[in-house]
Amino acid sequence: MHNGSTGPQEKTPHQLYEHLAQLDSGYTLEACTQYAAWIHEIHELKRRHNAVILAHNYQRPEIFEVADVIGDSLELARQSKQVASDVVVFCGVHFMAETAKIVNPERMVLLPDLQAGCSLAESITGEALADRKEELRQVYPDLQVVCYVNTTADVKAESDVCCTSSNAVQVVEALDTENILFVPDENLARYVQNETSKNIIAWQGNCYVHHQITPEQIQEVRDKLPQVKVLVHPECREDVLALADAVLSTSAMMRYAKESPAQEFLIVTECGLSDRLLLEVPEKKFYKSCKLCAYMKMITLEGVRDSLRDGRFEITLPEETRIGAQRSLDRMLALNA
Ligand code: SF4
Repeated sequence: MHNGSTGPQEKTPHQLYEHLAQLDSGYTLEACTQYAAWIHEIHELKRRHNAVILAHNYQRPEIFEVADVIGDSLELARQSKQVASDVVVFCGVHFMAETAKIVNPERMVLLPDLQAGCSLAESITGEALADRKEELRQVYPDLQVVCYVNTTADVKAESDVCCTSSNAVQVVEALDTENILFVPDENLARYVQNETSKNIIAWQGNCYVHHQITPEQIQEVRDKLPQVKVLVHPECREDVLALADAVLSTSAMMRYAKESPAQEFLIVTECGLSDRLLLEVPEKKFYKSCKLCAYMKMITLEGVRDSLRDGRFEITLPEETRIGAQRSLDRMLALNA
């Protein structure tokens, strides 16, 4: 991860090609020459506009070359507050850029492509959540809503507290209530239910990337390579989680793979994380059982250049929504989960 506002060292086209060719993903010298030119332009524009670039773990590997900070969505939103800048360019999807805006109200937050959505965040709206809450409170007067950070600002504002994939169980345990509506990921909700005696009512949403990974795919690798440690993201189905050596958020997977004495891993999440591990921990082996998130891959270097050059696309939020969403995020921190 790169901390601070200078970002990684700029590479020549040949250096960039040598670096990215390690991934075996079809990078050519011609493409890398174009990337190097865009990267140079982006660095210039970043300085001119006093901007910081945040990139989610699932971004294209060439995007990591311009990122000041790489991480999961909440980590990025939090770290963006530590870096002095007027502009935040978010290389990720829409709800993540909103989260960055929630915690950085005074700064301009840009998302290079407004089409970069998320099947999980789009499975629920603030309005639908308000209706469901009202219905359930007739049966469970103590009901509280825990929302995964992969939600829009509207949904966060309608919830009692936020959580991440790494603290979901602790947040649920820390609440002084027995009945919890957990939104929007049904797989994460089931994972939490298995870890707590509280009553978890799940919203029926899922991440199309993780939901399509099957136990047969994991078992096939386990049979061929019994020595691998299988690291699985909790947005995966229950029968896939059952085959994991460890169920971890993306940032926790990074730490685990770096610190574990094990040498070979199967990374079961979006492919961008395996790419990041392959580049950052070249002495270990990473096998992929991953899927691409089409939304994440909508962000390109050219798009980031245009975003910085033309100040687009700015993320704005009604102040009432922003404050409500901030309250849910703050409560998560206050629970110390
Ligand atoms: S990987 Fe899943 S949760 Fe993440 S942005 Fe893509 S669709 Fe949404």
